[in-house]
Amino acid sequence: MDLGILGIEATRRCNYRCKHCYLGDAQQLDLNPDALRPILDYFPYIHQISLYGGETMTSPTAVKIVRDVLRESKAHFGGLSLVTNGSIYNKEILDTLGDIHEMSDKQRDGEGVQITFSNDYYHRLEEKRLGITRAQIWGNYQKMRETHPQFTYEYRKFEPRKELLVFPIGRGKLIASPYLRAPNLDFTLYGNKLECFTINAKGKAIKSNCSTTYFDADTGDNYGDVTTTPLQDIFAKHLEQ
Ligand code: SF4
Repeated sequence: MDLGILGIEATRRCNYRCKHCYLGDAQQLDLNPDALRPILDYFPYIHQISLYGGETMTSPTAVKIVRDVLRESKAHFGGLSLVTNGSIYNKEILDTLGDIHEMSDKQRDGEGVQITFSNDYYHRLEEKRLGITRAQIWGNYQKMRETHPQFTYEYRKFEPRKELLVFPIGRGKLIASPYLRAPNLDFTLYGNKLECFTINAKGKAIKSNCSTTYFDADTGDNYGDVTTTPLQDIFAKHLEQ
């Protein structure tokens, strides 16, 4: 059975505190590699790996954990995507992503590594608070394109909407409803394959399908809408359908 999208909370570290962040407050926590191995062993092919956090560019350790487990598992995957706030240019992380790009199967349907730069009202508020300019972020975007041209890049358009329609979720925070929607993904691409499977940094499977809403149903500590169902049972249930 192939997998459409594997979501991985690679790190909970972040240098921003955006008001719209549904991922909650940053923590000094990187992915537990033991959580990833059985998933990679189970799926013969993963179309897309999606790293989320936290800010991936703050943690060389997290990206190396992902690379090393992919390498050890001889995982077969098409691409890996991540979204960054763009404030950090980290050569070590980009080179590690370069290793992942090399491992990906671009012949089948993959695009290798794809990096998207966030650019919206709430990120800009945070940049102002931290004294980071858009010129610096644009500079990082241009520099990455020059030093790592093998990746695909996207620089998001500025989203001026700032009204906050709030929901009481997200590691205990109130967040803006426009950001609650699941990503706009073309699932038809994946046919009858299992579309999405997501784990958080602690290695718990997240119940929500293709979105990363957060509430820890097992512990009540708001670190993820996780399930205690063993992996094999989740997979078996899918096979029954
Ligand atoms: S939205 Fe992104 S950059 Fe902002 S606090 Fe959340 S994880 Fe960090």
